Amino acid sequence: MVAVGALSGEGATDRAVSVADAAAHGLGERWAGVPALLLEAPGPGSTSEDPEALLHELVHIWLRSRGAPEPAWATRVSKDEPGVIIATRESGVIEEALADFITASRSRSPVLYRASARPGTPARSVRGRGARCPEAFSGRPHADASVLSGALWDVVTRHGAEAHGILLTALAKVAPSHTHEVRALAKALTAELKRRAPKVARVWAKVVDERGLGRCQEPISLTLQRTFQSPLVQPVIPGKRGDTPMASLQRYEVQVSGSRTLSVGVRFDGQAPPNLRWDFVDARGRRVDASSSVLDAQTSSMASTRLAVPPRATRLLFRLSNPQSTPIAFDDIKVISVN
Ligand SMILES: [Zn+2]
Repeated sequence: MVAVGALSGEGATDRAVSVADAAAHGLGERWAGVPALLLEAPGPGSTSEDPEALLHELVHIWLRSRGAPEPAWATRVSKDEPGVIIATRESGVIEEALADFITASRSRSPVLYRASARPGTPARSVRGRGARCPEAFSGRPHADASVLSGALWDVVTRHGAEAHGILLTALAKVAPSHTHEVRALAKALTAELKRRAPKVARVWAKVVDERGLGRCQEPISLTLQRTFQSPLVQPVIPGKRGDTPMASLQRYEVQVSGSRTLSVGVRFDGQAPPNLRWDFVDARGRRVDASSSVLDAQTSSMASTRLAVPPRATRLLFRLSNPQSTPIAFDDIKVISVN
C-alpha cells in the first residue's frame, strides 16, 4: 500500500519524493507508517504526469520495504575493514542509481524524466560518462549516482538489450540487502551474475574495474560544533603504509559559503600526534592546498588547523594523513569555527 499526496510549501525542493510516513507529511492519521509518494499537482511538465518520475520514486519505496536503510548522514564501521568508517549516505547514492537505472531499463533509454524536465534544464542521463570513483563522489547523491547507474548502463551498451532483464533480475535479488556500500553491491552483483549469466558477469567485472567501483566512498559531512563521536566507530587517520585503503580515501566536507577562514580540530584519547597533514581537495579529489597541524596548547590532545577559504568557494573537502607508517585512531573531529 502506498499513499499518494501533493508536495507543498517549505522543504519541497525535490519535485517528487518518496517518504516513509505519509501521516507525517499531512496525509492524515490513518496513513501513519504507510509509505507515500509526494508529487507535484497535475499539469503540463508536472512530475505527476511523468511515468518515469513515478517509477523512480516507487523504486525508493520498494527498496525501503525490503529493508534498505534510510539514506541519512551517519557513520558506521566497515564490515570489510574494521576500524574504517563508512558514511552511510552512500546508501542514498545506491538508491538513486538503482531508481534511475531501473527506470531507464523500462524506458529503454538512458535519458530520463524528459516529460517533467524544466525548460532549459537538461533531462537526467544515467550514462555517467567518464565518472569514476573515488573522484566522482562529491557528497550529492543524485549526481554521484551516475557512477553506478553509468556502470550498469555500460553493461547494456556492451552486451546488448538482453542485459536489461539479466541485470534487473540479479539486482532484485542482491540490491535490497547490499545498499550500504557501492563496492559491496558491486561484489554481490558479480557473484549473482556469475551464477545466472557468466558472459554478462565478465562484462560487469570489467566495468567495475574501469569505473573504480571498489574505491567509492562518500565524503563525511562536518558541521560547526557538531561532534563526530560515536560509540560504534573508531575513526582512523591513515598512515604512510596505506594498509587501510578506504581510510586513505576518506574525505571530510564542510559548507563554507560566504566564509573566509575555516578552523578544524581532531581530538585524541591521549597525546595528539605531531605533523598531521591536512590536504584540501576539490570535488574531484585534486589537491588544492595542504596545511600541517597546529597543536592546541591547552589540551595537547587536540590538533587543529586553520585554512583560508578560496573566494566563491561554497564547500571545502579535506583529507587527513599522518607521517607514521600505521594508522592513528582518533576520538572526534569537528569544525571549530567558520568565519
Ligand atoms: Zn530519487
